[in-house]
Amino acid sequence: MSERAVLWTNANIATCDASMREFTGALLTVGARIVWLGEEAALPARWRECERRDLQGRWITPGLIDCHTHLVFAGTRAAEWNQLLNGATYEQIARAGGGIVSTVNATRRASEAELFDQSAPRLESLLAEGVTTIEIKSGYGLTLADERKMLRVARALGERYPVTVRTTFLAAHAIPPEFAGRAGDYIDEVADRWLPALHAEGLVDAVDVFCERIAFDIAQSERVLAMASKLGLPVRLHAEQLSNIGATQLATRYRALSCDHLEFSTEDDAKAMARAGTVAVLLPTAFLHLNETKVPPLDALRKHGVAIAVASDCNPGSSPSASILLAASLATRLFRLRPTEALAGITRHAAAACGARGSGTLSVGAAADFAIWDVASTDELQYWIGRNGCAGVVRGGVQVRGAAVA
Ligand SMILES: [Zn+2]
Repeated sequence: MSERAVLWTNANIATCDASMREFTGALLTVGARIVWLGEEAALPARWRECERRDLQGRWITPGLIDCHTHLVFAGTRAAEWNQLLNGATYEQIARAGGGIVSTVNATRRASEAELFDQSAPRLESLLAEGVTTIEIKSGYGLTLADERKMLRVARALGERYPVTVRTTFLAAHAIPPEFAGRAGDYIDEVADRWLPALHAEGLVDAVDVFCERIAFDIAQSERVLAMASKLGLPVRLHAEQLSNIGATQLATRYRALSCDHLEFSTEDDAKAMARAGTVAVLLPTAFLHLNETKVPPLDALRKHGVAIAVASDCNPGSSPSASILLAASLATRLFRLRPTEALAGITRHAAAACGARGSGTLSVGAAADFAIWDVASTDELQYWIGRNGCAGVVRGGVQVRGAAVA
């Protein structure tokens, strides 16, 4: 059976490939792939009679990719945020059972169905902004059963909604109360038992560790990365967010897909990322929410040609946001990314960061995933602060959102 061919005409096309070329023309999808794009007059004769959809001069970009999220969790931390605004300290909140422990407790208490129902609206917000691929981390279960539950919910979201989900195992996110003062024992459990078990169940696409003074040190982080490598899984690292303890240097020795946060990274870190082909993932919403002041070293990242991605970091503690457009918009203000850099950061480079090969560009052979925009230029995607111009989404060659393009 031949697959359906559709010519999407009269479009302003932002390719988001290495050239970042933008032009007015048409894009041909056959089944779930892009097979041709260019000026319509140059369309090969054999496609001239195929089904047509007129985009009426709207912009199209690749489907957006949110490459760093903790989207699956139960409860919120709105009450403690309110307490912070009223003068409470993080220590007082932690002593009263707040902080990450409260999210861990709520996530453990939730059934798989409850966790799905609480997480789905956050995913829906991102899908409304043109997201077609998302990375989702575990890390609020912190038992084998609860980490499994989180990853199963992430997979289920990908089955229920028109989105590609890439899962990341992040049990090394915090030390659970049962292992207080025994971080080494916890890492043994995570690396030697949970990771191989969940990998064998097909639940893990990549492995991440919160490598930080207040979380896991270099040796502990390396235990997890080494097991991931042994299992053939790609790694990522929460690196250099609050201090520099050498996380990026460790990650790049394992040819990490990405190092994420990077406020405290150095030019040597940028060099190492460039050599390893590791993407720098910037998370400006967390930077904003935590009132951080030290920005990632953009000049060094640019100078050494490090690919830069931007993500929402959707999570209840440090980035209560389910908006990739807001993250891109904040990246231009807080970190001085140029609009084209921010656009590459939520498309092509985000695909690389979450190992989503074949996504993130409008190019021949790429997935036929694209977002349709009611904007006059792609700069408007970052220019607006909190306005969503997404008019529709096509995934796998099929329109899944917005008024039907006729
Ligand atoms: Zn994170």
